[in-house]
Amino acid sequence: MSMPDAMPLPGVGEELKQAKEIEDAEKYSFMATVTKAPKKQIQFADDMQEFTKFPTKTGRRSLSRSISQSSTDSYSSAASYTDSSDDEVSPREKQQTNSKGSSNFCVKNIKQAEFGRREIEIAEQDMSALISLRKRAQGEKPLAGAKIVGCTHITAQTAVLIETLCALGAQCRWSACNIYSTQNEVAAALAEAGVAVFAWKGESEDDFWWCIDRCVNMDGWQANMILDDGGDLTHWVYKKYPNVFKKTRGIVEESVTGVHRLYQLSKAGKLCVPAMNVNDSVTKQKFDNLYCCRESILDGLKRTTDVMFGGKQVVVCGYGEVGKGCCAALKALGAIVYITEIDPICALQACMDGFRVVKLNEVIRQVDVVITCTGNKNVVTREHLDRMKNSCIVCNMGHSNTEIDVTSLRTPELTWERVRSQVDHVIWPDGKRVVLLAEGRLLNLSCSTVPTFVLSITATTQALALIELYNAPEGRYKQDVYLLPKKMDEYVASLHLPSFDAHLTELTDDQAKYLGLNKNGPFKPNYYRY
Ligand code: NAD
Repeated sequence: MSMPDAMPLPGVGEELKQAKEIEDAEKYSFMATVTKAPKKQIQFADDMQEFTKFPTKTGRRSLSRSISQSSTDSYSSAASYTDSSDDEVSPREKQQTNSKGSSNFCVKNIKQAEFGRREIEIAEQDMSALISLRKRAQGEKPLAGAKIVGCTHITAQTAVLIETLCALGAQCRWSACNIYSTQNEVAAALAEAGVAVFAWKGESEDDFWWCIDRCVNMDGWQANMILDDGGDLTHWVYKKYPNVFKKTRGIVEESVTGVHRLYQLSKAGKLCVPAMNVNDSVTKQKFDNLYCCRESILDGLKRTTDVMFGGKQVVVCGYGEVGKGCCAALKALGAIVYITEIDPICALQACMDGFRVVKLNEVIRQVDVVITCTGNKNVVTREHLDRMKNSCIVCNMGHSNTEIDVTSLRTPELTWERVRSQVDHVIWPDGKRVVLLAEGRLLNLSCSTVPTFVLSITATTQALALIELYNAPEGRYKQDVYLLPKKMDEYVASLHLPSFDAHLTELTDDQAKYLGLNKNGPFKPNYYRY
């Protein structure tokens, strides 16, 4: 399948070489500089304080929507490999070497590498954009000389990203951003392939920081790029090895919280290297919020409850990106869907899409399922829960665990019965049961899988952000937080089109002139809403 000719690899191909000659800031006028921090000398002591305000690791993780949050425990369990013989021994205590004699890693069990390799190969099937990036950039090695220290979930999908970065010329050292989400067999496969990976499922808090430290602190090797998910790695470097920033060309961060912290640092003038906010790139947002939720809402509900949706009455709170995705899936299965909204524009969109817009109170007694997707708090209150009918299913697809007032259900008159993993029956004194899923945390991340294709979008965006920051001529990026240039966002999308044998129409010269566009993009202004 041929790649669209109109989309050469920005930052790597012929076009890019030309582009890079134009260092004029105006060239990137389409690039959104999100904050403008005053120039400031690096002050690591203050920066440390800024970072110590971070919430606890586990709390932050739940906010982070990331490439591999798809790989929390439940996801990786499908591919789990157990070898009870080594369960008791901490990987830190073990002497392990890979088949090439290297012991520059720390994983649960290097013997699981073959099994992990199969998992990585399965993921590669649906991550063809990264594979084609490898092929396209092979001759150029746009990351030659890059020393990337990474901290993400370690899953088959991330492994495809890491191996792509290596194929593009980078040296990588990697740790896990979550103590539970590492797929041990995948970590083993990476270690066997020569990646310095320090991670295993079930790390202690101390192990967690030890693994990060082993990645950063290595004699004769100093990172010059950071790929982070949640900000822990960035935090550690600020705290322990601030000198690393002197050589660092940039940070790529993809979680909501990590990005938020970077903006805080930038605002305070304390960010000492350029940072790329991958979380807010258009392709990632659309795929994470709309399409991912459209794909995973039913999976999460069915795995936990075996519910049939035809004819069921469902109320979805919030008709933003996540709500729209959920509603589309529910409608397709024949559910009767009601919407609650505070925003007249979204409410009108819901009407146009054929949904009834109601107040939650108006339908709460009759609905079979309640789904929150607002990003808000206390959308479903104890009063609503009291009025629900028997067997009503309640779950959250929106913000962390704030949308449903779960705390109000922890009272003596109500009985909690754990009926399945992630499924609680909350029982009222009259025998009424409400079925609460994942204790009000994100349903799809807790109870289903996220499609590899969605993760491919994020991973490709991360790879391009690293390439862009690493290759950018001096002065293009300041000590600030940037969004990925629109043209690169378009390029991420274009890399995924061949999977569908989709054929892009090319602008004629005349049409390009008429619209005032470059034939190779960007095709939309930054303010365009997709
Ligand atoms: P959005 O802003 O596009 O949509 C939220 C909608 O909720 C808005 O239209 C808003 O007007 C509405 N709303 C706010 N308060 C409300 C209330 N009290 N009652 C009814 N409607 C209300 O945001 P989004 O992209 O749809 O994301 C929503 C949440 O989902 C965010 O917290 C986001 O972090 C999270 N999210 C979850 C996943 C997932 O996989 N589950 C993926 C991406 C984002």
